[in-house]
Amino acid sequence: MKKYTFPWQKEPWEQWQAGAARRSHAVLVNARPGIGAHEFALFMAQAALCEARQHGDRPCGNCAACGWFEASNHPDCRVLVPESMAPEPAADAESGEADDGPQAGRGAPSKVIKIAQVRALDAFFSVGTHRGGTRVAVIYPCETLTVESANRLLKTLEEPAPDTLIICVTHRLDAVLPTLRSRCTRVDLPLPETGGAVAWLAGQGVDNAADALAEAGGAPLLALEQQASAEYRQALVAGLAHPARLDPVALAERCEKGGAEAVCLWTSRWLSDLLLCGNGGKVRYHPRESQAIERIAQSVPLAALDGLLRRVASRRRTAEHPLNVRLFLEEIFIDYARVTAQ
Ligand SMILES: [Zn+2]
Repeated sequence: MKKYTFPWQKEPWEQWQAGAARRSHAVLVNARPGIGAHEFALFMAQAALCEARQHGDRPCGNCAACGWFEASNHPDCRVLVPESMAPEPAADAESGEADDGPQAGRGAPSKVIKIAQVRALDAFFSVGTHRGGTRVAVIYPCETLTVESANRLLKTLEEPAPDTLIICVTHRLDAVLPTLRSRCTRVDLPLPETGGAVAWLAGQGVDNAADALAEAGGAPLLALEQQASAEYRQALVAGLAHPARLDPVALAERCEKGGAEAVCLWTSRWLSDLLLCGNGGKVRYHPRESQAIERIAQSVPLAALDGLLRRVASRRRTAEHPLNVRLFLEEIFIDYARVTAQ
């Protein structure tokens, strides 16, 4: 039998197989980023297509169907992702449609799932199955469906073709159309249990796996990803931990290669820890810096920290393409220095 993509997916898988929900024709997998929701959805899809699977089992990993699936060319499977996430840019003759969403543009791959992609799904479901089994579509992440695409998908879900399974995946349940949510059986993936996740990270060669996991909010795949940008994150934390010595210009220069969006996120997490600590809670993301966090949290009014966190969060929403990353970050650090110097 095929191994679980990640060891912490054994339990959710077994629960899913034991429940009546496994017979649903539409599923919404909901999880925080960094715990492998997409991979879990693909595992579900492969299980639905596997031709040698016993009831309740995982996919076999050996049959012809599993072979095609793993080579991404099973004729009864479609995976819908925004063009920007596709392994190769899709040669999509319809990409010039007016409903591509605000992000679309010549040259820049689209960040939304377009209505043309959802329409193509209808065509796929309307022809018979190639292998006589289930036809499966995985839609990821479904918060990137445009309103038009989501409404179109809703029609497909309202009149499901026989022997079909649609697996939607989201990291932002609040951004999924309520009508779409209500048409799907929800599968919530929990955060992995800490001990197992730390062991897994250590096995991937991550140093200080427990701290790395805490810094990633308990999401192991995020921790792995952050390892790559550890240098910039460490520079940021070292700078934020000593507000009196903080030089916003120098700090922006040291961590700009981490990317505006990521630096905003790390700064938000730092501020969340300050607020948590100020409210008498335990720091969540930066256990190693808890002394510095306590010191700052005691000297800065909570309302000022809260205002700062809100401003950073609102900047983060525009952080995708700042004209000048360094300047963008400088402004955040000037704000931070001003607030923490109170
Ligand atoms: Zn198989």
